[in-house]
Amino acid sequence: MKYPYIIDGHCDSLIHFVNGERTLQDPTEGGQWDTPRARSAGVALQFLAAYIEAEYKPFMATARGLQLIEGALRFLTDHPEQVFLVIGKQDLKRIPDPGRIGILLSVEGGEILGQNLFMLDIIYQLGVRALGLTWNQRNALADGVGEADTRSRLTNLGQEVVLRMNTLGMLIDVSHLNEEGFWHVLDLSKAPVAATHSCAKALCNHPRNLSDEQLRTLAKHKGVLGVNFYPQFLKESGPATREDVVRHICHIAEIAGVETVGLGSDFDGISEVPGGLEHVGEYSYLMDDLLKAGFSVKEVELIAGGNFMRLLSDVLK
Ligand SMILES: [Zn+2]
Repeated sequence: MKYPYIIDGHCDSLIHFVNGERTLQDPTEGGQWDTPRARSAGVALQFLAAYIEAEYKPFMATARGLQLIEGALRFLTDHPEQVFLVIGKQDLKRIPDPGRIGILLSVEGGEILGQNLFMLDIIYQLGVRALGLTWNQRNALADGVGEADTRSRLTNLGQEVVLRMNTLGMLIDVSHLNEEGFWHVLDLSKAPVAATHSCAKALCNHPRNLSDEQLRTLAKHKGVLGVNFYPQFLKESGPATREDVVRHICHIAEIAGVETVGLGSDFDGISEVPGGLEHVGEYSYLMDDLLKAGFSVKEVELIAGGNFMRLLSDVLK
């Protein structure tokens, strides 16, 4: 089979680039994601996340977030033959590009906004098109999954951010959001949302994973979940393999429909990887496994990239 194009909903490679540790050009640098391997595996669109590390929060979060965005823009400017920025529906038409990877800039953590809604417009102007309202902790918008007992909905600012993201055409990412925040976002948002890098709680009871009820509701709102490759989200104990990724994909397809499943590797953000899916170049094995698991060619195309493409067409302007 000719492998389908892939849309990967999350990687953390940007931070390594900005810290000067890697160029993201060379598979021998020791990372999990780089442009040569991503291209050879058929990655047509990569969400490149600006993850703001704990030591910058809260007071330096805006500066660090902007530094990461500047790094991403520099990466794009320096390598126009390899990557291009996706900011609107028009750009989606270029995917898959025969030689280049589309990059969708996302920010992981509403801390970048400080307490200011206008910062959302600023990062939009800079090209950011997806935002996770929180990482694992509480911020001015909402509570993350690490705040286990608060059972909090969004703050006033969090609610304004959701509505402004709808107006601007930005994708709301609920992957790190606490459960009450998840329900609140789905109540409020006029556009479908994504959990860009999470797994199924029914198969691995981790706070970063979504329950079957959440998956069904995500599907009802035409959202997409990108399955995360982190072994601790895939399996409650012991090392994970590519088979576990397939297990989660099958479960989510069964519970929420195949139109709800995507991929969100979390490459370069995870300290362990599943056996047989250790870097972006190994994506093709996963495609073969999905066919063997009984998905049709059309369904594999949806899981690989079609579902995220449909979601982005619904959200971006
Ligand atoms: Zn994350």
